[in-house]
Amino acid sequence: MSARKIAGELSVSFRYTPGVGNTAFFEALRDRGVFLGSRCDHCGVTYVPARVFCERCLAELGADVECGPDGELLSWTVARVDVDEEPLDRPVTYGLVRLDGADTAMLHRLLDVEGEPTIGMRVRSVLADRREGSIFDLDGFAPAGS
Ligand SMILES: [Zn+2]
Repeated sequence: MSARKIAGELSVSFRYTPGVGNTAFFEALRDRGVFLGSRCDHCGVTYVPARVFCERCLAELGADVECGPDGELLSWTVARVDVDEEPLDRPVTYGLVRLDGADTAMLHRLLDVEGEPTIGMRVRSVLADRREGSIFDLDGFAPAGS
């Protein structure tokens, strides 16, 4: 029997639930404006956002470490189309940032960048004026000192 391709569209709606670890992260970001992570003492790895188990050794973790608010730019890219491949009004620059004290990285907008960002540059977190417990409580990362 060979595979067949059937043309068509399938509408799927879903709801993302953040889980225990990410809920603690988003509540801390909303209520205190801090980035909550989880440290695995066995592996010596600090995860941000917080999570309930270590991805390496599966140890149970708590949301018990504050990281950032500054960090280091590990990589970046520029988006010119949205997820539906529609052109954006303006390109958006995204950065992969490792917050101070963390071993993992977060992807978010890079703000106030003139020209090409520099890998390794120091960045600071820019929080939203009104926070509601989502990733948009963080406006993005801007060059430290800007
Ligand atoms: Zn571990």
